[in-house]
Amino acid sequence: MHYRRWSNTQQTRGDCVALIYRAANMVEAQLVVDELRAGGMAAHITGSYLSGAIGELPPSDVIGVWLEESRHRERAREIIEDFESSRQRPTRDWQCDRCQEWVGREFGACWQCGQPRPFDTV
Ligand SMILES: [Zn+2]
Repeated sequence: MHYRRWSNTQQTRGDCVALIYRAANMVEAQLVVDELRAGGMAAHITGSYLSGAIGELPPSDVIGVWLEESRHRERAREIIEDFESSRQRPTRDWQCDRCQEWVGREFGACWQCGQPRPFDTV
């Protein structure tokens, strides 16, 4: 499936926690969480900072922002889109889930295997 490593939902306490954003670094992750909380949605961060070791994985592969209630997902995506467009970072690349190729941010799908870009295409 498209999100075999980054499955979008987990069942907890009868509600769904949704992975809403993959951050390039902790500063960015915290900014997203702040934006979501300002919008009245609870969110938390998971990632390698917990262990203090990033290892060989790029940070964007291991820092995730999770929405506490997946029913807020649509609104959260809007906030994140606003957040990203306001930041205007044209060099932000993303890594393909399927073939691990790094793809320029202006592309909506992997140029190597055609895998859709996560989140933008759901
Ligand atoms: Zn690919």
